[in-house]
Amino acid sequence: MNPITYVEAADVAGALGHQYASERAFIAGGTNLIDLMKEQVMRPSTLVDVNGLPLDAIEPSPAGGLLLGATARNADTAYHPLVRDGYPLLTAAILAGASPQIRNMASNGGNLLQRTRCHYFYDIATACNKRAPGSGCAAIGGLTRQHAILGASAHCIATHPSDMCVALAALEAVVHVVSADGTRQIAFADFHRLPEDHPERDTTLAPGELITHIELPPAARFAAHSAYLKFRDRASYAFALVSVAAMLDVGDDGVVRDARLVLGSVAHKPWRAPLAEAALIGRRAGPETFAHAAELLLSGARGQGENDFKITMARRAVIRALEQALEGTHDNSHEFAGKEPL
Ligand SMILES: Cc1cc2nc3c(=O)[nH]c(=O)nc-3n(C[C@H](O)[C@H](O)[C@H](O)COP(=O)(O)OP(=O)(O)OC[C@H]3O[C@@H](n4cnc5c(N)ncnc54)[C@H](O)[C@@H]3O)c2cc1C
Ligand code: SF4
Repeated sequence: MNPITYVEAADVAGALGHQYASERAFIAGGTNLIDLMKEQVMRPSTLVDVNGLPLDAIEPSPAGGLLLGATARNADTAYHPLVRDGYPLLTAAILAGASPQIRNMASNGGNLLQRTRCHYFYDIATACNKRAPGSGCAAIGGLTRQHAILGASAHCIATHPSDMCVALAALEAVVHVVSADGTRQIAFADFHRLPEDHPERDTTLAPGELITHIELPPAARFAAHSAYLKFRDRASYAFALVSVAAMLDVGDDGVVRDARLVLGSVAHKPWRAPLAEAALIGRRAGPETFAHAAELLLSGARGQGENDFKITMARRAVIRALEQALEGTHDNSHEFAGKEPL
């Protein structure tokens, strides 16, 4: 049994208090952190509950986009009219994840910081450089169905499991954080990291930094042609084997004016390749253009044997997601009105 001090923070200054500096973890929905604590993977000595902070609003940003509060729930975010109408890709991605119950609890900040679902990371009897730096990687040569095909290192082949983050990468979101040293903003592409020599570090957040908001830049030009496609072992309540966020801005002449293309669950972070997007821009939207972009996005992909199928799956998923985006954004938020039923 590990003794834990539990603190309900009433304001941001309280949450950042120096007295909690060592072994502190913020807790929001608890849907990932509590599991990790039960498995002894994470052992914070102090839990600072951030649910009482005034960070749950979803509101227009001064720059004409949207500010998503860090403690706003995933369900409230997905069904918010400003998100549904202006950022349907984000609605689709959030609703593709987890279950209604979990989405009702999960917060936006916590979603960004959820840990990998690598089996070995959750099993403290095995070697894992992410959990215990320097101990090795039991996944290499082990069970790798879920693992990376892009951006892996000799020290870790884990993937980032979030659906929401794939859409946020495509939307070029910006993460607002605060610490005792002040505030800063992190471009989404720089927020998650590749494992390299330090797989224990999932993100570029400094210890003790609190996420306050996620800012979405204006994206109206993509709203009519976006798609989030997720392939998984079960039809629901399963993490992605491969997912794709595709956004197109297409002219009346059928030529792509702008494009965003991101793969999920194939790397340690959402995977975006500027070359693949550049190959779409200025070309007529259609099968040949899409297939070429898929090749470029997957160039350099390498499987571990058991997960080699993900390379073909990802290539086909990219083409299908682009086809769906071209057909027009599909609204998948009509199933429930407002908050999801428990
Ligand atoms: C059975 C199951 C199935 C799931 N399926 C999916 C799926 O298909 N797709 C998917 O994308 N996700 C899935 N999830 C993951 C789920 O989306 C995450 O667990 C959830 O988003 C985490 O949010 P939370 O608020 O509960 O975070 P918590 O568990 O409270 O915290 C997670 C981490 O974030 C940190 N944290 C939280 N808030 C802040 C903040 N404001 N600033 C700094 N640090 C903070 C915590 O310290 C902790 O390290 C699933 C989860 C479960 C349990
Ligand atoms: S892949 Fe990464 S998370 Fe999984 S066992 Fe290896 S080091 Fe740990």
